[in-house]
Amino acid sequence: MAIDMLARCRALEGDCACGRAHHMRTKEICIGEDWQAHLRAQAAALAGKGGVTLVADERTFEAAGRAALQALSGFAVERVILRGAELHADAANIGRVLLAVNDGTRLLVAVGSGTVNDTVRYVAYRTHLPYIVVGTAPSMDGYASSVSPVLVDGMKITFEATHPEAVLSSPAILCSAPQNMVAAGLGDMLGKHTALLDWKLSAVATGESFCAPIASMMHDAVELCEQNAPGLSRRDPDAVAKLTQGLVLSGLAMQMMGNSRPASGCEHHLSHFWEMRQLLRGQGASLHGDKVGVATLLIIEMYRRFFARKPERVCPVDLAAWEARMRDAYGPLAEGFLMRNPLDRAEATTAQEQLERVLANWDELKAEADALCAKKDALRHMLEESGGPTEPAQVGCRGEDVRDALLCAWLLRPRFTLLKLAFGLGILEEIVDEVLA
Ligand SMILES: [Zn+2]
Ligand SMILES: [Zn+2]
Repeated sequence: MAIDMLARCRALEGDCACGRAHHMRTKEICIGEDWQAHLRAQAAALAGKGGVTLVADERTFEAAGRAALQALSGFAVERVILRGAELHADAANIGRVLLAVNDGTRLLVAVGSGTVNDTVRYVAYRTHLPYIVVGTAPSMDGYASSVSPVLVDGMKITFEATHPEAVLSSPAILCSAPQNMVAAGLGDMLGKHTALLDWKLSAVATGESFCAPIASMMHDAVELCEQNAPGLSRRDPDAVAKLTQGLVLSGLAMQMMGNSRPASGCEHHLSHFWEMRQLLRGQGASLHGDKVGVATLLIIEMYRRFFARKPERVCPVDLAAWEARMRDAYGPLAEGFLMRNPLDRAEATTAQEQLERVLANWDELKAEADALCAKKDALRHMLEESGGPTEPAQVGCRGEDVRDALLCAWLLRPRFTLLKLAFGLGILEEIVDEVLA
């Protein structure tokens, strides 16, 4: 990882002015051609003379699994290759990995990106074993995360899991990933713009804890990725490595905040909403980062419309009508979400208070939103150039999926975002109508 970024992370460890104590649990990040030496040294430290279970899928085994095995020569390695056209972190794959773990296993090594990492991370958590991930694609920011989204009975459920001890990879491995996975990583990274703006908005409107140094580090990481975006389509190793660093850094920022605030806002809620719908329909899933990129462009437009109107009072909200709309939008899953995140939940701050606080900081917030809106075309261009989608239809959205997501996706998580603020103020539907007009 770029020395300065990791050094900045380390410098933020410990007590912070934001009121939190920040801890980085993943101790080693290496994205360089010497990753095998790091893997060997880490394995020696973590497994000693014990067994190692290495997990990959067919593609990632060729991309880096074989090289990882070489690095682990001398260790007792059991290998698990997950097979199938569309792999998920699900009961079958978690079971498959668990079967390969025995009393002598001391370390798990995941070779892959989303699915393999999520599967191994969960097993590591359940078996109290340390794990290392060898990343094979710069496709998402979950490398250093500590939760696992698992597919259970057709539903993605996020389970508590554990962080990797080390994230290792090399520019050569990352450049061998399919181009759509590189583009998806850029989409996930560009989503940090709206995630960070949502975080700031919540800090102002609800008083949620906000860490300025972490937010500023994330802004710099996104900027670094943007500067390197032109190199992604021609697989410039340095550009692909920089993108990966930004993605891994997002995970570290989440570790240090203790939640996903620095990396996930309502653009992620849109993405999760679409994914849930596509799973319910039995539709093949598009990549997470693709959906995040498309959603980010929509949320920037929502910010533009919100700050163009300057709301002056709280409009009445017809909760019964909204409940009916949510039941419609979420179908069989509605009850669960309405229970976890009730529409009339007593917030620490009322909509009136939120409005007053936002108005008191209007110029500052508007300036940030305006700056982002001014970049929208450039961001769209970066996604296009990298080969990623920019339109909802390209990520499998059909019919009312966009409108439903803009109106209803905030119910997915009890997290304050622009969509939630607009809902509370009674102006969400008007803004969505404007954006979709
Ligand atoms: Zn993401
Ligand atoms: Zn802080």
